[in-house]
Amino acid sequence: MQAAEALYRLQTLDLRVETLQQALRAAEHQVGESADLQAARAGVVERSRTVHGAELRQRDLELELAQVETHLRDVEQKLYGGRVRNPKELQSWERDSAQLRAQKGRLEDRLLAVMEEVETGRAALRAAERQLAETEAAWQAAQAELHEQISRMRDELAEGQRQRTAHIATLGEEHRAVYERLRRERAGRAVARVEQSTCHGCRLSLPAALVQRARVGPDLVFCSSCGRILWAAR
Ligand SMILES: [Zn+2]
Repeated sequence: MQAAEALYRLQTLDLRVETLQQALRAAEHQVGESADLQAARAGVVERSRTVHGAELRQRDLELELAQVETHLRDVEQKLYGGRVRNPKELQSWERDSAQLRAQKGRLEDRLLAVMEEVETGRAALRAAERQLAETEAAWQAAQAELHEQISRMRDELAEGQRQRTAHIATLGEEHRAVYERLRRERAGRAVARVEQSTCHGCRLSLPAALVQRARVGPDLVFCSSCGRILWAAR
């Protein structure tokens, strides 16, 4: 293998390792709870809080109503029990009775509204719980697939790194140093293919003599424009 071709192969291996490393990092970044799942879970918490609040208000109203009803029974006992005969006193009990009835009516209306709120809230909570269960199932399936993908990528990466190490052992120290320097300076692409007398690194047309030297080797030949090592297939 020509020196330039060997370095081009090293570059191919390096680029593959880099691509795999990036893909692996991106995949690993996706491990964990998704925004969807967190939103679904927050939806359940919020709705159960709403239901709980309405249930508390319902209980308070029921207690208040029971007290008013007890009070009303006492008052009516006095009104119709026949033991109170003083007209003024009876009048006063009548006023109390009317007031308590009105209060009872208002409490019943409020209770009805709150009971509706509880019902609506419970229905919304059930829907949110279903939504959470669905989201969770989909998320779990996606995570399982993601873990498989990560495991495959790790294997591929290990294989790529193994190939790279094996290939590097066949290269001369000097050529490797040139390659590593250009790789840093040229964003990972130290070697450019020559096709139809054009450098594929910078798209510049190359002098025929330069192309010929690149083709026959054995020394490294560099592009006169971008400075990359030129590899021309024989
Ligand atoms: Zn070039």
